[in-house]
Amino acid sequence: MAEAPTPSHSSRLPTVAIVGRPNVGKSTLMNRILGRREAIVAEQPGVTRDRKEMPASWQGREFTVVDTGGWLPQGPGDNSSMDAKVSAQSEKSMEDADVVVMVVDFQAGITGDDEGVAGRLRGRAGPVLVAVNKVDDEAHENLIWEFIRLGLGDPFPVSALHGRGVGDLLDAVMASLPEEPAERLEAGADPDSDAATVSVSIVGRPNAGKSTLFNRLIGDDRSVVHDQPGTTRDAIDTVVNTELGPIRFVDTAGMRRRARIDQATEYYSLLRALAAVDRSDIALLVIDATVGVTHQDQRLAERIDGAGCPIVVLLNKWDLLDTEAREAISLDIDHRLHFLGEAAVIRVSALSGKGLNRLLPELRGVIAEYRRRIPTQVVNRVLRDAQAAHPAPDGARVLYATQGAADPPTFTLFANRILPRTYLRYLERRFREAFDLGSVPVKLRVRRRSGE
Ligand code: GDP
Ligand code: GDP
Repeated sequence: MAEAPTPSHSSRLPTVAIVGRPNVGKSTLMNRILGRREAIVAEQPGVTRDRKEMPASWQGREFTVVDTGGWLPQGPGDNSSMDAKVSAQSEKSMEDADVVVMVVDFQAGITGDDEGVAGRLRGRAGPVLVAVNKVDDEAHENLIWEFIRLGLGDPFPVSALHGRGVGDLLDAVMASLPEEPAERLEAGADPDSDAATVSVSIVGRPNAGKSTLFNRLIGDDRSVVHDQPGTTRDAIDTVVNTELGPIRFVDTAGMRRRARIDQATEYYSLLRALAAVDRSDIALLVIDATVGVTHQDQRLAERIDGAGCPIVVLLNKWDLLDTEAREAISLDIDHRLHFLGEAAVIRVSALSGKGLNRLLPELRGVIAEYRRRIPTQVVNRVLRDAQAAHPAPDGARVLYATQGAADPPTFTLFANRILPRTYLRYLERRFREAFDLGSVPVKLRVRRRSGE
């Protein structure tokens, strides 16, 4: 890109304003976001304070958090008091902010002051997120929906005190920030040049739970590195540092936005999924277990398989099924996705996180298989045995073989003439068994060797 970035791009950090009536937990939340206790000292209620601006970062992105110090909309004629001055100043920072987080108190419910603040925010052009604070345990999460009444979209349950849900909230805040200046995104390493980074796509029908899964996967992980621009303008990838090394989640643009406008039709989502699969090493196929394996799921699975991409199947929303339904879907999987062979099937609840502890070990296995490289002499021993047991027809013979690539395992066979497809399948099977490659696709390339 030849154009220099505008000064506003390079010098000004995006700002996130925290607003809400006193005592809902704004300071506690701010401390939590800043990750240090001493940032803001506990204050006496009613004591006025300046708004505070603090540098913060999340997912490698820097921003400024502004504590608006208990901004409340002013009543008519009420502009001479100290409170009014504080409000005017806070209002300015609220107006200037890129994203506003309105904090409410779960335990207190919606108060008149909350309604006043929300009413004022509804007129705002920029994004507003509602954080329902003091949701100290998971059991209460499904009681937060009354806060939808504020008219500011889906509320986020958090406990600023304990840190619960703050990661999800910050992810949503990040997703709502203006685009990062292009030069920062482009400064990232070329993902394809980094052999250690495994690319994983999360695919499935609309509503299967992909976003929920993705947010869950990165939610607890504070080491999300950076976004990588994908092939299309809106295909943004997210790189996460895991114990397995960096994993690049492909095309996560829509998934990071909780309150996204879901315009994805079945067809559009299929196209998008296939594009993502093309750029990934492993596909996580999310199936809505309450719906079962649909034709669309089958088509998707076939296409992924055909593209040579290993699949891990996630049967999601497991929490919603009774025993009978659980048995039924397990049969359904065997029946309708039988062509996937040994692909792992994991039963999960992306919503609660239950079962997801199995995902990383499973990925580890797939990645290890995928990366496996077999010494040339071992390859040739297996080849010799396979040919001795079952020679190719018409005097065809593989003279020598080598593993050209590990991702996926690709073997180059040097043969004296063209080998029939059935014989290649036989060799592939022998390689797969001998090298314990499980469900990972094996590619065979045949080269005619001159002089034989
Ligand atoms: P602010 O006036 O909006 O800045 O609110 P504070 O951050 O000062 O918090 C008000 C009170 O709520 C304090 O006693 C906090 O300890 C408490 N509080 C804040 N967050 C939580 C939370 O997540 N759970 C519970 N139980 N209490 C909280
Ligand atoms: P996507 O369109 O595939 O990204 O699906 P979403 O992640 O947006 O999820 C669709 C709906 O299913 C949302 O209302 C989620 O809260 C819900 N959902 C996702 N996963 C689960 C789960 O494991 N259990 C339950 N009960 N609901 C879930």
